[in-house]
Parts: sequence; C-alpha cells; structure tokens
Amino acid sequence: MEERISLIKGDITTMQVDAIVNAANSSLLGGGGVDGAIHKAAGPGLAEICRLLGGCETGEAKVTPGLHLPAKYIIHTVGPVWKGGDKGEAELLANCYRSSLNQAKQHDCKTVAIPNIGTGIYRFPKKLAAEIAIIETKKFLESNNLPLTVTFVCFSDENFNIYRDLLDS
Ligand code: ADP
Repeated sequence: MEERISLIKGDITTMQVDAIVNAANSSLLGGGGVDGAIHKAAGPGLAEICRLLGGCETGEAKVTPGLHLPAKYIIHTVGPVWKGGDKGEAELLANCYRSSLNQAKQHDCKTVAIPNIGTGIYRFPKKLAAEIAIIETKKFLESNNLPLTVTFVCFSDENFNIYRDLLDS
C-alpha cells in the first residue's frame, strides 16, 4: 500500500499525472485558492466547459479535460463548508475522496494528484481533513486496481507536516 501513496509539497497545476483533483465550489465556475490556480493554468476554455456541467453537489465529482495542464483530466469535487462539525461535514469530505477516486478509475487514470480539499476557504480542520483523506484513499486503493498511485499535494508547510506525520505513523 505504502508505495501507492506519496506526498509532496507544491503546486498541483504542475503535476504530470493522468488526473488532478480540484477543490471546486458548487457552481464549478471557478473561484479562489486551488480552483483559481487550476482555471488560470488550464486556460479560459475550462470555465466554458464547466458552465455546461450544471454545477456539482457537495461530495460529488465531475470530470473535464485538463486543457493546458500537463494532467489529462481535472476531477472537480466540492468539499463541505465547515460549520462546526455536526452538519455531516466529515462524511461529505469522505464522499469527495470516494467520488473523485471513482471518477479516476472510470477514466482509466493510473496516476492522480489530490490537494487538501476543504482546508482553505471552506475552513475544514486540517488534521481531521488529512485523516479522512488518508483513510478514504487507503480504503479505495485496497479494493481497486486503479488508480495505481495517489499523490497528496500540499501547498502549505502546515498541511505537509500533518500528512507526513500521519503517513509515517
Ligand atoms: P476549499 O474551498 O475546498 O477550502 P481552497 O482552494 O481554498 O479550497 O483550499 C484547499 C487547499 O488547497 C488549501 O490547503 C490550499 O492551501 C491549497 N492550495 C491552494 N493553491 C494550491 C495549488 N496551486 N496547488 C495545491 N494546493 C493549493
């Protein structure tokens, strides 16, 4: 299992993988954070394609081409806005990982990169988010042959250190 999960610190838009996951908002029309960076790097054609998708529910995932990105596909998932923890946030975030990995499998992706969904503008607590990300990804990889590998891409030192400690233990 260990060799199928890796961790790096960096910018997900530069990843040379079959698919990157985007922490989008429910309109899929672009926003700040990683979503803004992905739209900027993929080009204006991405917003045009996303407009045709008719939005996305929290916890679900929809796929577009990567356009100008090195990645072939972008899997857009919508994380929950953190509202204190008793609004089903943990289960909704788990759903984001399950739906995204399932989309990667359906699109025959061998390599996938995933950012720290929900931990920016949506304020999901970082350690809990990392625990959910790792548990759900391990579970999915245990019962599926694709994707072959998942790389968690952390933008901040704080998230990188949280993931490193959890993956080491
Ligand atoms: P959300 O609305 O789901 O919280 P954000 O984009 O605000 O989404 O934040 C999600 C995570 O993405 C944050 O941890 C943020 O630091 C990280 N992030 C921002 N830009 C990038 C990038 N270019 N590559 C990878 N991660 C990024």
